[in-house]
Amino acid sequence: MGKRFTKYLDYIKQCLITFIYDDEHRCVLCGNEIDDKNLCLPCMKKLKRNNENPIWYKNKFYIFSALYYTSEAKELLLNFKYKKNFQCGEVIASLMIECIKENNIEFDYIIPAPIKADSYKTRGFNQSLMLSKTIGAHFDRKVLDVLFFNKNIRNQKTLNKYDREKNIKGSISIKSTNINLENSKILIIDDVITTGSTLNECVSIVKGDKNILIKVLTGMKSSI
Ligand SMILES: [Zn+2]
Repeated sequence: MGKRFTKYLDYIKQCLITFIYDDEHRCVLCGNEIDDKNLCLPCMKKLKRNNENPIWYKNKFYIFSALYYTSEAKELLLNFKYKKNFQCGEVIASLMIECIKENNIEFDYIIPAPIKADSYKTRGFNQSLMLSKTIGAHFDRKVLDVLFFNKNIRNQKTLNKYDREKNIKGSISIKSTNINLENSKILIIDDVITTGSTLNECVSIVKGDKNILIKVLTGMKSSI
């Protein structure tokens, strides 16, 4: 191997070490140096754990959420979703894992909430699928990415609760799978819940007329 090439490899190695070191040892919220993990203790303490689990939604299903949507939680989520900071996603997933353990949530499969085609185009990934994969790997459960939007809908953010429900109705479909979901326990996962209309539609579509026990878990809860 030529001397210059070896030097070049050393340079690449150094870059990688610096990159990994920086990546692993800084708090994702305040940027302070830390020993391990992704969040420093003071920032971890600022995140407000949800102590109202679960919500019994519309007499249909239970919703669990790991955190309240405080400014710190919002920063984590926005960094994850819009700045592709996947360490922030890891922090959210780890708090969701804690929430599952604390509430003894049992499930056989995970189904992530779908993302609209135009959001996927600009973002490049489905944040709910990513959270689902981390959680699924932790509990050794399969993630079934089967829900999808079958049409373009108006942005839910601009609508009130009533219009959100009307807007979302009939817009989500389920892909067929060779896994028989009859008599199974399913955990539907989303990053954040606001009015619950999207998750309500997801639950209806997954359940259909089958005997399935569905629970919902979100990283954060906003106004619900
Ligand atoms: Zn911090």
